[in-house]
Amino acid sequence: MKNILVIHTGGTISMQEDSTSGEVKPGKTHPLSTEHLPLENVSIKVKQLFHLPSPHITLKEMLQLRIVIEHAISEEIFDGIVVTHGTDTLEETAYFLDLTLNSQIPIVITGAMRSSNEIGSDGLYNLLSSIKVACAPEASSLGVLVVMNDEIHTAKNVTKTHTSNIATFQSPQYGPIGIVNKRSISIHHKPLNQESYKIIGITKKVILLKAYAGMDVDLFSAISSLPVDGFVIEALGQGNLPPIVIPSIEALIKRKIPVVIVSRCFNGIVQDVYAYEGGGRHLKSMGVILSNGLNGQKARIKLQILLEANYTFEQMERMFS
Ligand code: ASP
Repeated sequence: MKNILVIHTGGTISMQEDSTSGEVKPGKTHPLSTEHLPLENVSIKVKQLFHLPSPHITLKEMLQLRIVIEHAISEEIFDGIVVTHGTDTLEETAYFLDLTLNSQIPIVITGAMRSSNEIGSDGLYNLLSSIKVACAPEASSLGVLVVMNDEIHTAKNVTKTHTSNIATFQSPQYGPIGIVNKRSISIHHKPLNQESYKIIGITKKVILLKAYAGMDVDLFSAISSLPVDGFVIEALGQGNLPPIVIPSIEALIKRKIPVVIVSRCFNGIVQDVYAYEGGGRHLKSMGVILSNGLNGQKARIKLQILLEANYTFEQMERMFS
């Protein structure tokens, strides 16, 4: 018998569509029941932690969720844990848990693109697939996994790529690490390394901004005078910025505020290639940290965690590279 804990946090998977108005919103309780799922020898305990659309989830809820999961792991009665979550910020919660939990049992996050009573709803199906993955010993020690649409992704690589398609979750460049079949699951790749950091609270402020052609300096200079602890920029191409923002970045670095750049490109990593003003090589020589392949929202989560865990600039630089 496998013991699985299902933790609901909200999102479309927990919502219903009003057939007359077409509105999709949360009801009082989670509409999906695990009672009649075609699973043999699986005992499921359900906990409704939050009932929030995922744009309402903050780092504080992520930390609360991590504490609940850590407690459940320490009880040593569960073989796996499934979290249901809204898809909009699912990748951020998944990566937060991935960086802050050190679990030997499978931790799986799932959601749905169609609410529970819509035609072709993917909620119950994704929940069933996730429970199958959570029961599988081969899914353990792989970090936090995201299971949607018959695919198993790592929290580090997965991202939401489509506003409404049920195949929205993809891992650009790398692909899923496994698939869910009718009767089994199969893992065909394994992550080479995993990180785990200890944090006890959410106290820092980390800001994420996106670069664009002809960007104005106003926002940058406003932010460089704000009480921020860290700064992530989705830069252009291989990690380049318009020269107009350089004085603001210099001001942040002078205040010992770490500035991390990622690329706004969907694939590839940032590199210190271009030596012109604002190019990646110039930024690196100024003390900007170049992140290795994370997207903006995940680099922000990671910088927040490294700051909470009190790492030095040099350590942070190493952990991002
Ligand atoms: N807006 C919803 C949410 O993230 C979307 C979803 O769950 O798919 O809560």
